Amino acid sequence: MRFSQMMAPTLREVPAEAEIASHQLMLRAGLMRKLAAGIYSFLPLGYRTIRKIEQIIREEMDREGAQELLMSALLPAEFYQESGRWDVFGPEMFRLQDRHERDFCLGPTHEEIFTQTVKDGIKSYKQLPVTLYQIQTKYRDERRPRFGVMRSREFIMKDAYSFDRDEEGLNLSYQKMYSAYCKVFERLGLNYTVVEADTGAMGGSGSQEFMVKSEIGEGMIAFCETCGYAANEEKAQCTPQIEVTDKEEKVLEKVATPDAKTIEELMDFFGCSADMFVKTLVYKADDKIVAAIIRGDRDLNETKLQNLLGCIELEMADAYTVKQITNAAVGFAGPIGLDIDLIVDLEVAEMKNFIVGANETGYHYKNVNFGRDFNAETVKDIRNIIEGDECPQCSKPIRTAQGIEVGHIFKLGTKYSKALDCTYLDENGEGQAMVMGCYGIGVNRSMAAVIEQNYDENGIIWPISVAPYHAIVVPVKVKDETQMKVAEDIYKRLQDAGVEVLIDDRNERPGVKFKDADLIGFPIRITVGKKAGEGIIEFKLRKDKDIKELAVEEGISKTIQIINDVMA
Ligand code: ATP
Ligand code: MG
Repeated sequence: MRFSQMMAPTLREVPAEAEIASHQLMLRAGLMRKLAAGIYSFLPLGYRTIRKIEQIIREEMDREGAQELLMSALLPAEFYQESGRWDVFGPEMFRLQDRHERDFCLGPTHEEIFTQTVKDGIKSYKQLPVTLYQIQTKYRDERRPRFGVMRSREFIMKDAYSFDRDEEGLNLSYQKMYSAYCKVFERLGLNYTVVEADTGAMGGSGSQEFMVKSEIGEGMIAFCETCGYAANEEKAQCTPQIEVTDKEEKVLEKVATPDAKTIEELMDFFGCSADMFVKTLVYKADDKIVAAIIRGDRDLNETKLQNLLGCIELEMADAYTVKQITNAAVGFAGPIGLDIDLIVDLEVAEMKNFIVGANETGYHYKNVNFGRDFNAETVKDIRNIIEGDECPQCSKPIRTAQGIEVGHIFKLGTKYSKALDCTYLDENGEGQAMVMGCYGIGVNRSMAAVIEQNYDENGIIWPISVAPYHAIVVPVKVKDETQMKVAEDIYKRLQDAGVEVLIDDRNERPGVKFKDADLIGFPIRITVGKKAGEGIIEFKLRKDKDIKELAVEEGISKTIQIINDVMA
């Protein structure tokens, strides 16, 4: 490819809308352009990388025996209605009607459709197991599209679905996808961590996420450097962290606290730290009002609570509801005498002599003890883990980091096969529900994640495996015949050797060309300058600082060798 003919609209300025490096660089390097909030077009250079990522995924999926197919993005409502997800998706689903007023959606994920397809195509145990996948565009009307293609409303996903006879078969299919995913993310040059993930209220017997550690990641991961435990925030099990304090339960006391409502004001008032308080958070779970009871300095994990309750919608109750339920102003809610379901965090059950609201404006109770002063049917872990908590596996301190979820694998079980009646006949001629798994990789999110882990102040530093082009040949002066001849010759020979190479034949100052090459991030740069007549070029790797003078032949063979080593 000749740079003079390539549509690569690079930008010098950092676009104001882009907050994170990958988003800025994808716009600046001319890889993509925004069309609307969370909707992007990929330009030629960006699309080359997209296709390379897709190809890596394809190869690793095929290696594990998965079969590729392609489904429509425009999907009839009925299958989602049958599974119940027409309602569950809520406003995240793009919905539309055809001219006959029939309901459709733009597919956010395809469990139902694959299940239907397999139901039609597979009848006997002899045809199982089977794993199918597609690389296809998904639509989700995200509440907060942001960070460019990290969280967009239209994105490419590789989604795979496995169908097995039983749980044992599922475990094997799942394991294959697990190893395919590891190879994919290794080939993408990503430094990733696999974490235990939550299977949600919809059941399923296991789930893992592939996370790329990054400060801009929206997910929090907890990990233990001693035993290797790793889980996301929703799944990480918290153990009670109680410093030894009182042994004896003291006498319950009601205390007037007229002006103290917030934890800070109460800390001043009682002269003790936040971990001596227990807060009562009133929630609306679908149509039911419940209260979550956790230590004053802890954060509630809403996913944990939602899973326990098995509800579709969970939101904090408004002030009016809180007043009605507690008969007190907001800030004085407490578990004693509260006549709704209480979900008590594990830690609270082990605390001694703590302080709670008295359900009476202006009052708190002190020396409260669970079991004696109030009770609950549900005592479970509902808080967020934090750095320094004990590892649930080995008790050493937990560490935390932010991460970008690039892939997700999930043992679904029979939820969809039962809902859609996807069965096979076993050896005895009896119908059995197929046991399913599902497996997703975000293609464009992975691309952004690669950039987040590979850039410097000058631009992107592509790993060779997904670089839009492997190498760029830069003649310093295009008007200089010798330079141009040598450059063209190198360009041709690299092309003949199968290297994806670009020649920067633009009549621009060398500074401009170098800036563009660095910004776009081609792994290898060969500069043909003053010493072209002597058969000498400059060889530079994007990831290194140093520039080497090499003989033309050496430059060519070195380039070929580097590319072959990676592509082999
Ligand atoms: P998130 O928690 O980030 O919303 P998710 O759990 O909704 O992700 P899945 O439904 O498991 O994601 O989708 C599989 C993969 O698709 C994710 O691992 C991610 O890489 C990608 N993905 C999901 N939502 C988006 C999005 N809005 N934009 C880009 N990629 C996405
Ligand atoms: Mg999501």
